Amino acid sequence: MALRLPNSKLPNVGTTIFTEMSMLAQQENAVNLSQGFPDYLPDENLLEYLGDFAKKGYNQYAPLFGIIELREAISAKFNSQYQVDYHPASEINITAGGTQAIFTVISAFVEKDDEVIIFEPAYDCYEPAIILNGGVVKNVKMHYPDYEIRWEEVKNLIGEKTKMIILNNPNNPTGKILKQNDIDELIKLVKNTNIIILGDEVYESITFDGKKHLTLARYPELKERTFVVGSFGKLLHITGWKIGYLAAPEELMKEFRKAHQFNVFCVNTPAQYAIAKYLENMKDFSEISTFFEEKRNYFRSALSATSFQLLDCEGTYFLSAHFGSISDKQDKDFCHWLTKEYKVATIPFSAFYQDQTDEKVIRFCFAKKQETLDKAIENLLKIN
Ligand code: GLN
Repeated sequence: MALRLPNSKLPNVGTTIFTEMSMLAQQENAVNLSQGFPDYLPDENLLEYLGDFAKKGYNQYAPLFGIIELREAISAKFNSQYQVDYHPASEINITAGGTQAIFTVISAFVEKDDEVIIFEPAYDCYEPAIILNGGVVKNVKMHYPDYEIRWEEVKNLIGEKTKMIILNNPNNPTGKILKQNDIDELIKLVKNTNIIILGDEVYESITFDGKKHLTLARYPELKERTFVVGSFGKLLHITGWKIGYLAAPEELMKEFRKAHQFNVFCVNTPAQYAIAKYLENMKDFSEISTFFEEKRNYFRSALSATSFQLLDCEGTYFLSAHFGSISDKQDKDFCHWLTKEYKVATIPFSAFYQDQTDEKVIRFCFAKKQETLDKAIENLLKIN
């Protein structure tokens, strides 16, 4: 007798857009500016440390919460960069990348019928995690061209059932960063509630034009209820190492750890040691912004000769653009067309809306070596 498959818990979910577009890029031999990852090598020292620690025998399970050396380095980073205190032992945890941190926080707190507010375009891993845990997604849409949060709408969604708010800052895919006014509104809205905030801040060190990242951790009224997610993938150009971290007040962290220990238990040992050692010599994190700002400027100014309308990019390594004056295709069709015809793969914004809202905007990843950017630019300039 053939097995009858049970109902899908995620009936509306297919393969992620990042995988879809990266595979298409490969098939089509196109320049891949879709999935967000650097195509150059990370610092050689970091790679050496990884090999050294593996050879020295650091190959077994790491401590459940992460090695203390790395947690201390993260605590020091919060302190020096943002003047915020997190206790390394009880308030910081190493995770298998940002995605696992996010999934596990949601699993640890969201119960059946709990409502979670997210902002669309929303990074694609929030919604499935909420649904798998029986929660209900409440969307607040942001729109082209400014992608501002309309806080009045957020206010209208908040009620008895609101368990969590997920904010992504700097924002993937819009490239926008939260302003003081946004933070003030958020503080007002959560005051006297039990809402937990999940701050997906994986691009925290990548902001441009002298603009500062406003981590939610800096505001005591928010910090007491907030999980801040960080990512060494973005910070050190090692997305494939899958090492991230989470910071939160002790009581929240205790609850997270109950779920985390049965989710992954612990995270890659030699990589944690390598990163901890590398961070010993990395006191200034502003270099990363400078590094990516140059790439943004280069890519942006080249693209300004095309018919794309470029969005502001205040942070992250994504530059997004409206293509309405090039084509009236649906954004996903446009991305496929662009990959096949002009050999540049990108990500359509509709993938970040539950109802696939199509405002004819696509995302380019500029965390690429010069020759990759040049090839993409050469191809894109042919569109006109
Ligand atoms: N964070 C990456 C991006 O936004 C994608 C990671 C993934 O493929 N899941 O492109």
